[in-house]
Amino acid sequence: MPQPAKEVSRILPARKRIALVAHDGKKQELMEWASRWKDTLIAHQLLGTGTTAARLSRTLGLEVEGLMSGPLGGDQQIGARITEQRLDLLIFFWDPFAPQPHDPDVKALLRLAALWNVPVACNPSSADFMMSSPWLGQDYEMQIPDANAWISSRSDNN
Ligand code: PGA
Repeated sequence: MPQPAKEVSRILPARKRIALVAHDGKKQELMEWASRWKDTLIAHQLLGTGTTAARLSRTLGLEVEGLMSGPLGGDQQIGARITEQRLDLLIFFWDPFAPQPHDPDVKALLRLAALWNVPVACNPSSADFMMSSPWLGQDYEMQIPDANAWISSRSDNN
């Protein structure tokens, strides 16, 4: 499979759109982590899969847009936001010990995050590093695939 040859720049804004997701075995860990970072998180726009978002709102009083629950398609909604360049950071505490009914969706979400160069944190320490980054509260310029060049190069040959 050819890979996108060209890239374009994208700016992640100073106020980040951050998705938070935790599998059931990791929800408590995410709540404890988010409680430590509450004052930082509050400055950004938060969203999450249904159950994770509801629990963050209920236990921490954070304003979190709730998407569909993960097993019902929430991971795919987050993937769509990544593809549309409407998400800036992903904090996804996935459970390495528990198979999920929606494992294909989990894999698809992680693939899109890798493809579109979206920063991902998968556990408390990586999320600590993300929150401590000087770029969290600043514009950050990064490179993403040039979708228009990709489509026109393919449409010449397919
Ligand atoms: P949930 O979904 O927040 O609705 O539990 C998370 C997931 O399993 O991806």
